[in-house]
Amino acid sequence: MRFEQAQRVKNLPPYLFARIERLIEEKKAAGIDIISLGIGDPDQPTPDHIIEELIKEARNPANHQYPSSVGMLSYRQTVANWYAGRFGVQLDPKTEVVTLIGSKEGIAHISWCYLNPGDTVLVPDPGYPVYAGGAILAGAEPYYMPLKAERGYLPDLATIPTEVARRAKMMFINYPNNPTGAVASESFFAEVVAFAREFNVLVCHDAAYSEVAFDGYRPPSFLQVPGAREVGIEFSSVSKPFNMTGWRIGWAAGCAEVIEALGRLKSNLDSGQFQAIQYAAMAGLNGPREVIDRVNALYRERRDILVDGLNSLGWKLEKPKATFYVWAPVPAGHTSESFTELVLEKAGVVITPGTGYGANGAGYFRMSLTVDTARLKEAVERIKKNLGPVRF
Ligand SMILES: *Cc1c(COP(=O)(O)O)cnc(C)c1O
Repeated sequence: MRFEQAQRVKNLPPYLFARIERLIEEKKAAGIDIISLGIGDPDQPTPDHIIEELIKEARNPANHQYPSSVGMLSYRQTVANWYAGRFGVQLDPKTEVVTLIGSKEGIAHISWCYLNPGDTVLVPDPGYPVYAGGAILAGAEPYYMPLKAERGYLPDLATIPTEVARRAKMMFINYPNNPTGAVASESFFAEVVAFAREFNVLVCHDAAYSEVAFDGYRPPSFLQVPGAREVGIEFSSVSKPFNMTGWRIGWAAGCAEVIEALGRLKSNLDSGQFQAIQYAAMAGLNGPREVIDRVNALYRERRDILVDGLNSLGWKLEKPKATFYVWAPVPAGHTSESFTELVLEKAGVVITPGTGYGANGAGYFRMSLTVDTARLKEAVERIKKNLGPVRF
């Protein structure tokens, strides 16, 4: 049998980490200990009070039936309260918040609400692969906005050709940024709002890392900028701040007509998230801020061990203000792929090639801080002993 795949599936980009995953498997099969700085997934457990809430609510039969596809009003109210407390942004939970099965779900599905085949969507490069993936599934064509070190990894909106800007229906942005660790100010968001107004573009801001920040830095919300709510929405979730990536619960908030469209699409695709999980997420959002501060202190300590350790060997790493990623250029004479393979081969340490996040990631690599300090020290030691000379 041979089943002809739909064009939208054929159009999906190949999985760029396939080669490195094969190499990792080979090493492991050979009994070599591998330290992975590859995956961006919190290693710490979900806080106890959240787990306790799940257990309690899982026992309540009222939660065993189909939930609402847009989420419980009490969950959406909790998200609205959290926005008011954290950002000073007032949201109407009935019309300006929709519950998602993780923010990734909404990021992929928003393209189905607004993009027809052949439409143009502005996507950051390097970037989280789901922006382009969702758009390609909808038949649309991504126009990649390069994120360059010299501009602090903010897209240069002035260089987007006018005919592309006119044609574009949506724009994705993401700050604090994966994979670069870059942050954006409110004044950049204000520029985005002005651009969106001028060209009638729907802005989708991915704020997955808004709570993962260090050294007193507090990332702003896109929605706190005047006019943002008329031109866009913001995606976020409890995944990164509360170590809950496996739980699959998030939200989109902002422009009411967009939230309505996403909710209507979802009512045709899924039946929402298990209510006990919604209660657990509420326990996180209503609970003590210390759980976030504690995990951020841990990432900061790890960041300093890794960055200071490798810089003492002559690497040129910068300390990110937010996210749990360190993003840096590869040494002279290397590509993203050759350097990634060298570090794996010689030191048994997995880092990810920048090209996995787009063509403009070429010449860069990413390291994740989601492994404990002892393993990070060991990674630095192994690189020191075994990597051989590299020149940054
Ligand atoms: C982790 C991540 C997400 C999605 O997380 P969910 O678990 O689906 O909420 C979204 N955007 C970026 C950039 C991420 O790194």
